[in-house]
Amino acid sequence: DQEIQQLVDKTVRCIPNYPKPGINFRDICPLLKNIEVLNKVIDYLAGKINFEFDYIAGIESRGFIFGILLSQKLNKGFIPIRKKNKLPGEKITLEYKLEYGSDIIEIQADAFKAGSRILICDDLLATGGTAVAANELIEKAQGISVGYIFVIELKDLKGRERFDPKVPVIVALSD
Ligand code: 5GP
Repeated sequence: DQEIQQLVDKTVRCIPNYPKPGINFRDICPLLKNIEVLNKVIDYLAGKINFEFDYIAGIESRGFIFGILLSQKLNKGFIPIRKKNKLPGEKITLEYKLEYGSDIIEIQADAFKAGSRILICDDLLATGGTAVAANELIEKAQGISVGYIFVIELKDLKGRERFDPKVPVIVALSD
């Protein structure tokens, strides 16, 4: 665990004042480029899953990258959770509050059967607002969120405290 923490910490780069002044953005691009570290991160995260699930739902857009790699590794289908007006066909929509204003995420209405067990994936957990919204969307679509998986958690922001404490949260780096 410590080895992977250090590896991710070393590989992810901090970009100060992006996208806004005062924000220290974790840039995952150097990690994506380093196939050895990327493989280790995916193997590590996949190895931490000790519960049954049916699909991985990745949150646009960096959640797609890690979600797809994990879905292939774990041999489970992938479902995209997208920003508004990107998906074709019938959709289920959820509007959620941001610091300023609101945003909309969507999933295809026929993405999974009612009662399907969904693992929610994103690159980074900050305040938890995005992942909480993803969970609400899954519930609205009559799925069950059975876990959350992130490469990085910014633990001081306490995002995981907003999740149901019974649902496991898997991270490679808690920073
Ligand atoms: P939250 O909703 O937990 O506050 O923010 C998490 C969402 O914002 C995720 O979708 C994540 O991709 C994005 N995000 C917020 N801060 C960062 C950051 O420093 N680096 C990266 N890569 N993504 C971030």
